[in-house]
Amino acid sequence: TNTGSKPDISREKSAELYEKSKTYFPGGVNSPVRAFKSVYGIPLFIQKGDGCYIWDADGNQFIDFCASWGPLILGHNNAKIREKVIEVMQNGMSFGAPTALENELAELIIKNNSYVEKIRFTSSGTEAVMSAIRLARGYTGKDKIIKFEGCYHGHSDSLLVKAGSGLVTFGETSSAGVPKSFADETIVIPLNDKNAISEAFAQFKDQIAAVIIEGIPANNGLLLQDQDYIEFLRAACTENNALLIFDEVITGFRVGFEGAAAHYGIKPDIVTYGKIIGGGLPVGMYGASAEIMGHISPDGGVYQAGTLSGNPVAMAAGIATLTELLRSGFYKDLNQKTKEFVDSIQRFATAKNYKFKVFTVGSIFWFAFTDKDIKTAEDIDPTSMDKFKVLHRELLNRGIYLGPSGYEVGFVSAAHTKIELEKTKRAIFDALDLVF
Ligand code: PLP
Repeated sequence: TNTGSKPDISREKSAELYEKSKTYFPGGVNSPVRAFKSVYGIPLFIQKGDGCYIWDADGNQFIDFCASWGPLILGHNNAKIREKVIEVMQNGMSFGAPTALENELAELIIKNNSYVEKIRFTSSGTEAVMSAIRLARGYTGKDKIIKFEGCYHGHSDSLLVKAGSGLVTFGETSSAGVPKSFADETIVIPLNDKNAISEAFAQFKDQIAAVIIEGIPANNGLLLQDQDYIEFLRAACTENNALLIFDEVITGFRVGFEGAAAHYGIKPDIVTYGKIIGGGLPVGMYGASAEIMGHISPDGGVYQAGTLSGNPVAMAAGIATLTELLRSGFYKDLNQKTKEFVDSIQRFATAKNYKFKVFTVGSIFWFAFTDKDIKTAEDIDPTSMDKFKVLHRELLNRGIYLGPSGYEVGFVSAAHTKIELEKTKRAIFDALDLVF
């Protein structure tokens, strides 16, 4: 039975830390969505994580479904990752020279992936995608790119046009400070619209270097695309000598070891990874065929570099993580567990006639306050975010932590057991009764 609205958790220590952080950082944070601007209350300062749990500065404990925005597929403070990182750290932190650890992580990826023959490590997803775009331009000798409304590809200039994530959370989908001349090179079209693809290629004939899409768009809600739409996109790129870039920063190693490309059975020309690949430390990666990657410096003329690229400590975390993911049955178990979890939430909401839908793929889920199908950024009613705000608050008060934006997806990790998923379901049922 529903116990009604719960009292708000204590935020005294977080409030104190927030007062201080506001004097140091814009909005008190080092990445905008962390500021809790679109949900209730002040941002929680996190002190500790273990398994699927996190604790804030006031000692509140939460079951975490944000997972540092996706990287922590094995949960917090995983012993295998921690031990490998400590072992490697004891030999120094960074050399700016090649190490065997880079080979080791590269081998784990390339040997188990049908889409890349050669790769480059970076220190973030943003860098990986930015470099992939430069590579596509250098390879094709063309300048324009097509991106999709609502897809977020990091914060490089030409990709901050009609992007999701923090931009949509704050109601502005493009960033100030991006020169019009840069934005003009980015053609933005809606998802789930084959005509828009054909028209863009027709209008900018022989000018499109690449089309970039999130393998499964997950930064403006979870916008699941139809198989035949993705196949159409693949064919259109081939026809027009444009490269297809799958940005798999969220989906890579998440919906399966080979990400969305394998989920659809589609071969992109360039893929980008981030998040999970670094096991909680800063790693990104882009990769392609040896022929395309041959255009990267020093083999080719497309320049890209990084002081901390391939950092040994970060490589160690990646190696320990990917080794676990390659164990047989890993994804089957994780995805099955997630399916049971979201199915029972959907059953509850449907039985109560709530306008509430859970969109899901693999171990990713997104709660939408609607009874309609959602496939594009336009399909989302911004006023429905008021309901997310109530849900978020009620869940925090019941010990459940979702990312602080209704446009962001949630993640189930290998560390969530039946016990926590049951507890979460009950909290969600109670919270939904209060939302509706
Ligand atoms: N691409 C996608 C699909 C992402 O979701 C993100 C981050 O959320 C990025 C790129 C940028 O990655 P990073 O935040 O590591 O720079």
